[in-house]
Amino acid sequence: MNTVSLLIERLGALIQQSVREDAARHGLLPIHIQILHYLAQANRYSDLPIAIADYFGITRGTVSQSLAVLERKELLIKEPDARHGKRLHLKLTPAGIAVLDQSWAERVEQALQAQPHDTAMLDETLRSLLTALQRLNGQRAFGVCRQCAHFLIEKDGARCGLTGEPLATEQTVRLCREWTAPIPQPLHDV
Ligand code: SF4
Repeated sequence: MNTVSLLIERLGALIQQSVREDAARHGLLPIHIQILHYLAQANRYSDLPIAIADYFGITRGTVSQSLAVLERKELLIKEPDARHGKRLHLKLTPAGIAVLDQSWAERVEQALQAQPHDTAMLDETLRSLLTALQRLNGQRAFGVCRQCAHFLIEKDGARCGLTGEPLATEQTVRLCREWTAPIPQPLHDV
């Protein structure tokens, strides 16, 4: 086995352990912490129960049970969509945001910032590896809006080329379930 595969396996195991510890500290299950973390990053097309099921590869029933626990603990609320009556957006409450303080993600972020190397290349390599594995597993890719093939910058600001809707700046750095990998540009001779 390639050493990179082993490193990824170790990182995955360590992160899972940290998620379990974070969850136990708050009397939650690991999936609850993962859902809160996902929702903290999801854009307005993706803060939905169906998107959570797709993202984690779990059933809608499991999602419903987890959302019921998080709602009961007042860690999230459901907000009706202004234009699509039946659609409910899931929003973290201040208590839900506080649960993510000092979470595993912050510890990974701190460790990354302490690295002497530029992490842009690492980001790109991991992203393309993730996309390749998601394709193999037949899963939706999910990705950051600004790195999507449909992302457009126009004179009035950012817009989604798929839905045609304008994008507020804070939405452009969030995760989207409709994300599509950009088509690589051919290299031209200089
Ligand atoms: S540009 Fe892509 S990632 Fe952004 S909202 Fe549209 S489909 Fe989603």
